[in-house]
Amino acid sequence: MIITAMMTGATVEAAADGFKYADERFADLQMLRYKVEGFEQLSLKQKTFIYYLQEAALWGRDILWDQNCRYNLRVRRVLEEVYKAESRVRTGNESDKDEYNAFVTYLKRVWFSNGIHHHYACDKFVPGFSSAWFMRRVHACADSFKDVPGGLDALLQEVCDVIFNPNILQKRINLAEGVDLIKTSASNYYEGVTQGEAEAFYEKQKAEGDALRPVMYGMNSRLVKDASGKIYEKKWTENGLYGDVIKHIVDNLLLARDYAEDDKQKEVIDLLVKYYRTGDLKTFDDYSIAWAENTEPVVDFVNGFIECYGDPLGLKCSWESLVNFKDLVATKRTETLSRNAQWFEDHSPVDKAFKKEKVKGVSAKVINAAILAGDLYPSTAIGINLPNSNWIRREHGSKSVTIGNITNAYNQAAKGNGMRDEFVLSDSDKDLLEKYADVCDELHTDLHECLGHGSGKLLDGVDPDSLKAYGSTIEEARADLFALYYLPDPKLVELGLTPSTEAYKAGYYAQMQNGLMTQLVRVQPGKNLEEAHMRNRALIAHWAFEHGKADNVCELLKVNGKTYLRINDYQKLRVLFGKLLSEIQRIKSTGDYKGAQALVEEYGVKVDPTLHKEILERYAKLNIAPYKGFINPKFTAERDKDGKITDVKVSYSEGYAEQMLRYSTLYSALPLVNE
Ligand code: ZN
Repeated sequence: MIITAMMTGATVEAAADGFKYADERFADLQMLRYKVEGFEQLSLKQKTFIYYLQEAALWGRDILWDQNCRYNLRVRRVLEEVYKAESRVRTGNESDKDEYNAFVTYLKRVWFSNGIHHHYACDKFVPGFSSAWFMRRVHACADSFKDVPGGLDALLQEVCDVIFNPNILQKRINLAEGVDLIKTSASNYYEGVTQGEAEAFYEKQKAEGDALRPVMYGMNSRLVKDASGKIYEKKWTENGLYGDVIKHIVDNLLLARDYAEDDKQKEVIDLLVKYYRTGDLKTFDDYSIAWAENTEPVVDFVNGFIECYGDPLGLKCSWESLVNFKDLVATKRTETLSRNAQWFEDHSPVDKAFKKEKVKGVSAKVINAAILAGDLYPSTAIGINLPNSNWIRREHGSKSVTIGNITNAYNQAAKGNGMRDEFVLSDSDKDLLEKYADVCDELHTDLHECLGHGSGKLLDGVDPDSLKAYGSTIEEARADLFALYYLPDPKLVELGLTPSTEAYKAGYYAQMQNGLMTQLVRVQPGKNLEEAHMRNRALIAHWAFEHGKADNVCELLKVNGKTYLRINDYQKLRVLFGKLLSEIQRIKSTGDYKGAQALVEEYGVKVDPTLHKEILERYAKLNIAPYKGFINPKFTAERDKDGKITDVKVSYSEGYAEQMLRYSTLYSALPLVNE
């Protein structure tokens, strides 16, 4: 498929490393790209393993589309045929170009949301083009619909009603009180049943099942009531609903199996395949346990019915997949810190009584994504914490990881968004951030996760929950302060973890600026801070700011009505961070609830409404897209004459529309109507 510039409409800027993290923008959406960092260093076996796993991932796409709404596949088919036909002939100067452009935006929003409802707000999109125009364009490419069962006219009528009638399918998930949530939600997890009937159906299953180790009832099926009034589950299995694509998922999992890294991982795949074939939920639990306990391999993956946010009753799981591998560079960094954990514990400014005699660092849990699919594409999480089953988590543990290359892509793409120019006054501060903000950010996270949370101890007899609602803010502040205190330490230069003894200043500036000002862009006007991480950042910044006032450590300057931060004494700021760390550790170690309450309420909750208003106004002018999603990389297998893979190449040049059309061509096997 050849895609012209007019079709993609991309505004592309290359980052310092030459990689284009930001791609096109439309409606309220910004498309980004992530780099599969470290892929080239993997062995051929690992690359081949990833290749088949990402094929298995891409095959699941249409399941999610149909889960989101029963008409999604039909709507997509019609929109894409029009798009393909029009883009072959259009020059951009047609008299109906406004309608056409609105149509393209609509299609891209549908692609992004895996359906006709906004991925986040869940409201049905309002098309900016007319139904008369649309019908004319569909009829102009009528030949493309020859294979449609029931003919084009019936399909078109149905699709037009879905797109243009604002009174139907208004919300994908309705969570409003006092109405039947199933009847008022457009998602496709139930058919003909009321909320009461569905709840009764699963209450009964629960009551009859294992109370201690319950399976996740209902997670892999559509609940249906037939004409005779019988209520039953249509399971999503290889021979059931969605079987036409589940077959392909299974095929590719079995191809991948030969390249698994150990026998345990082969067993994980075997259990997953068995579950896809039978739909048996006990088998799914067996799979989840095997997966949670399989922590050795470099390459890992999620593939299945996982997240239940799309079902208003929270039972049915949407399909998603993530293929990933350990970030070996990050792992090396954190192993270095972990090996030296005792040195950091011994040298911290904390009272000796609150220190651990024997401390153990935690190794990195950073992964890089190779492909995002289903409910993780294109809008994705930056970390995963699975399995979801509570008893499995309790008895067998879980995997909690950060997706490093996704986080990095967000950070890199944010660079061109104007935030730094708007909120940093001096060129020297801008230079400082340009040079060292990234490395400080990584190091801060490593220190926070590997050492910060694990440092210090509770005094004997102190209840770990004694700080109650303030507990998580205090805990996050403790880990952050441990990181901040050590960022300037020559020990980090000695360990080869920071390029210079000056680099920490970027981390300090970013911390103070964020805590005092810029994180407020995420807070609604009139609201206080509620989330623990935001409270912790505000607490640290405001406390240090107030306690450094006498020495003029930091100041907030007003220039042309705009507020800016200036740090005058970085050394003194370190001393302040050390003092606060010592105090916060005392609060934690002694379970001083009143102390925690006083600190958090005084420094971590309140928002200055005047400053907040100013920050929000400055931010609004930057016109930054509120939602972001990712274009996937494209994997290509090179094969020998027997079809055996000899290498796997990854490329990043595919445009968003191009990618969507490729997926629709290569990974579609479901009928337009799935009953
Ligand atoms: Zn933390």
